[in-house]
Formats: sequence, structure tokens, C-alpha cells
Amino acid sequence: MKTEYRPYRARSMVNKLKHVDDWLWVSYTLNPYRGCAHLCVYCDARANQYGLSATFEQVVYCKENAVDALERQLPRLKRSIVSTGAVCDAYQPIEAEHRITRRILETLARHRFPVEVLTKSDLVLRDLDVLQEINGVAWAGVLFTITTFDPVVAGRFEPYAPSPERRLTALEQVAKAGLTTGVMLCPHLPGISDDEAQLEEVVGRAKDAGAQFVLHGGLTLKEGPQKARFLKALERYYPHLLPRYEELYGVGYSPRGEYALQVGRLAREICRRHGVPDRMSRPILPGEELLVNRRIAESLLLRAYEMELEGGAGHRIWAYRKAAWTVDELDESLADIYGREGMSGLTALPYIGSSIAEVISSLLEEIKGASKVRSRGRNRGRRQK
Ligand code: SF4
Repeated sequence: MKTEYRPYRARSMVNKLKHVDDWLWVSYTLNPYRGCAHLCVYCDARANQYGLSATFEQVVYCKENAVDALERQLPRLKRSIVSTGAVCDAYQPIEAEHRITRRILETLARHRFPVEVLTKSDLVLRDLDVLQEINGVAWAGVLFTITTFDPVVAGRFEPYAPSPERRLTALEQVAKAGLTTGVMLCPHLPGISDDEAQLEEVVGRAKDAGAQFVLHGGLTLKEGPQKARFLKALERYYPHLLPRYEELYGVGYSPRGEYALQVGRLAREICRRHGVPDRMSRPILPGEELLVNRRIAESLLLRAYEMELEGGAGHRIWAYRKAAWTVDELDESLADIYGREGMSGLTALPYIGSSIAEVISSLLEEIKGASKVRSRGRNRGRRQK
């Protein structure tokens, strides 16, 4: 497949998310390229919403003015984690020559902005020095997508990306360099790469290589070019699965029925067996003033995820998510509000009713208890000197 590369002038580089992402803990996204020459068959970037559908198979646009645009934008933004590669891989082959991602990282380092890279390429190792510099002043993490180690399946669905074996070796080096690293086991494909043996191989090998977590998730198929491209490959390689996909996806974009919950629970159970979390802990950024709010928002979002895997009621799951966003976006410490006004201070906040206020108050007590224990430990240490 011959990809054409065209220069592109970006008006801005950083997009702000409405709420913090509870998988990756990022608040901003940034894509050095529009389009991706890895051309994974299941790639969601083909979906119409990204405006790339018409050219996705042939053209990659390179944002050559990325640094200028960033220099204008960063001073106006609150420091929080920027993700690269959420839509298009920042380390696709052209990056070896263009070095746009590297220059972006250098700019983020100058502005002390934390960064999280999500990639399928070991080219990221070239930039370990800048990532370590960012990690020293803010925070940096690198996540590798590994959906399977079956070379036939990877060859069919990720034809132009570096092999999963190379990605795993790169992960090992990122871990040795002291950066946060983990695996995105997503998407697992129904009937193709969602069986226990394949999931277990990814989780076990990721853990052994130094992954601190394995995030897992299923395939979404959006009407239009993304779904059409995927179904064409399915028809070619796995025609017997077409009725199954029709039953699972029909006209929706995520699988119907119990399927997603069953695979999600299986993946979580496998992660537990291997002693690796299936959620990423929220990074602590230097100088974080509202740490308690961040931790409580994280706990509420984790509960929402657990309820989801347990098949909990949608309105309860959304109640927890909305409460978490309220807490996360407050400008004042929740501990101060609770200390001053008690439960009524919590329930006066948007989307926090009495039952979630109870949960928050016990989380606040837990945090208070833990910090008392820590400070007693510190004092004892001082007396013994
Ligand atoms: S590497 Fe990621 S962005 Fe690139 S084609 Fe594959 S799924 Fe899409």
C-alpha cells in the first residue's frame, strides 16, 4: 500500500476533552498526523466523525506547523496530561523522517506538560530521552496497543504496524527506563482474538515485560467506512463469522447482549490471575493542589466501571460518572467543603445525592485516616534518628 504524505497547517494542536478520560487520565488530546499508515483494519479513525474517511486509505497529512501552534496554545492551558495517538498513531513510519512528534515532545518538555503516548510502534524508543525529561518535571507514560500475539491475526488486522513482538520488546525498555507503561488490549475481536488463551497470552506476557496495567476493551463498528472495511476483511478471512457479527452489531456500533460483559469479566479475571490491574492508576502530577478531589473522582469512576462489568443499572452508573466529574472539576478541596459544611455541603454540589454523598464521606474519612497514619510514621522515624 503506497501512502501519500501531504503537509498540513493546523489551526490548533491541543483539543480539550469535556471531562477527564477515565481509562487514560488525560484531559487533552493531540495528533501530529491526520491519517495513519498502519491502516489497521478495525481502525476507528476511519469513522465519519473524524473527517478522515475519504482519504484514510491513501493520504496522511503532516502537521508541520505543530510547534508554532503549540507554542501559542500551551501558555493558555491549565497543566494536565496530553495524550498523543488517541486518533492517529504519532509514531507511524513517516515520523522517523519528519520528527514532528519528537518536536512536539520537546515543546511539551519546555512547558512542563505531562504526556501520555499510545502507540503500536517501537519508534517511540528513539524519544525515550525527551520522555524521561518530561517525566522528571511533570509525568510521562507510554502505552502499547497489543491485541493478540497470533501472527496470522495480527498480520490480517494490523498489516502495516510493527509486530506485537516488537511492541512488547519496546514496552520492556520503556519499563526499564522508569516510565509508566502498560498495554491496551483493545480491540479484542469477537470469535477471532477474544478467547481465553489469546487474552491470557497478552496479559501474561505484558505483565512479565513490565506492564503496570492492562486495559481491555472490545470492538466498536461505526456505520460507514470503518464498518465496511472491517466487514470486507471478515468476509475474506472469516466468512463463517458474518452471521455472528450481524447478530452482535446489527445497526448499533457496540456489541449487543451479554457478550461485552462476559469478555470484560473474563479479561478482568485473567488480569487478576496474573496480578496485574485492569485499570490504570491516576498519575499524581507534581504540585497537584486538589489531590483529594482527584483521588475521590478516581474512586467514583472505578465504581462506575465495576458496576458496568457487574451489569448494573445504567442510571446508577451514570450517576457515579457525573458525580465524579463534579468532584474532579471543583475549584475547591472537597475535604474543606466537607469539613466546613458536612453532608449538606456535599449534597449541595451538582449531581451528588445523599447516597453518593455517603460514599464520598467514607472516602474522605479513609483518606484522612491514611494520612494520619503516614504522618505518625514520619514523626516516629524522626524521633528514632
Ligand atoms: S495504529 Fe491506531 S491509529 Fe493507526 S491505523 Fe492502527 S488503530 Fe488506527
